[in-house]
Amino acid sequence: MSAVAPTAAIPSASAPTYAVVLHSHTWRCNHAQGDASDMVAAAVAGGCPRIGISDHTPLPDGSWPEVRMDLDQLDDYVAAVRQAEAAFPQARVLLGMECDWHPEYEGFYRDELRGRIGCDYLIAAVHAVPVAQGRLSPFYDRLGTEGLRAYADLLIRGMESGLVAFVAHPDVFACGMTAFDADCAAVARDLALASIATGVPLELNANGLRRNAPADGRPGPYPWRPFWEIVATHGAKVVLSSDAHRPSEVLHGFAELDALRQELGLVAVDPTAA
Ligand SMILES: [Zn+2]
Ligand SMILES: [Zn+2]
Repeated sequence: MSAVAPTAAIPSASAPTYAVVLHSHTWRCNHAQGDASDMVAAAVAGGCPRIGISDHTPLPDGSWPEVRMDLDQLDDYVAAVRQAEAAFPQARVLLGMECDWHPEYEGFYRDELRGRIGCDYLIAAVHAVPVAQGRLSPFYDRLGTEGLRAYADLLIRGMESGLVAFVAHPDVFACGMTAFDADCAAVARDLALASIATGVPLELNANGLRRNAPADGRPGPYPWRPFWEIVATHGAKVVLSSDAHRPSEVLHGFAELDALRQELGLVAVDPTAA
């Protein structure tokens, strides 16, 4: 059932840290600029020959339309990625999608995204956390014990689905937190253990470096160092991503991410390499 290829280690000492870009968006998600060909052009110009486009998935029930394409834009998205592939024969262009991992959408991800349109890879992310009172945003709300548990459980379910290549910004909940408490540590540990058990790496994501820095002296809300210290003690593998929402961001942040990776002794992989 697992459709995810085995991971290949990236020897960062000899290769550029941006040997692969797997997290990038297009204008269709309503909060990004540029199209697939603009992203590929920027990656190629910066010396990165391998780039995946991974816009926010449309959802079959139309949820959260303000941050994603509509369902009827899906085929246009695929065509745009294929056009970019044809326009840049010197690059390896991959068709991906960032998927909000909620169980009710798993069939759609499997049958439509991996099946019908033939995505090369999917990324699991959680941008809305179900709690008894409704839904919380890990970007804007403080997740308490219940929210952090629900957040981790959704991502673990994504990893166990066999459908995803990696987990996007697992430490994104740092946006709403002021202190790394025992519940945060439990999330880091449980995601690291699930990552090792499933072979699905965790993403060090540079978009956090471009967001407002918290008052406690962090350079950005994420990557959140204490989270990654725990991941490192367990030995889970990582993917480095710019999470570009405009072409100028395609290669942003890799140096900072790689410095943290090296400091903590984390191993970076390309989960889409055969
Ligand atoms: Zn986005
Ligand atoms: Zn995201």
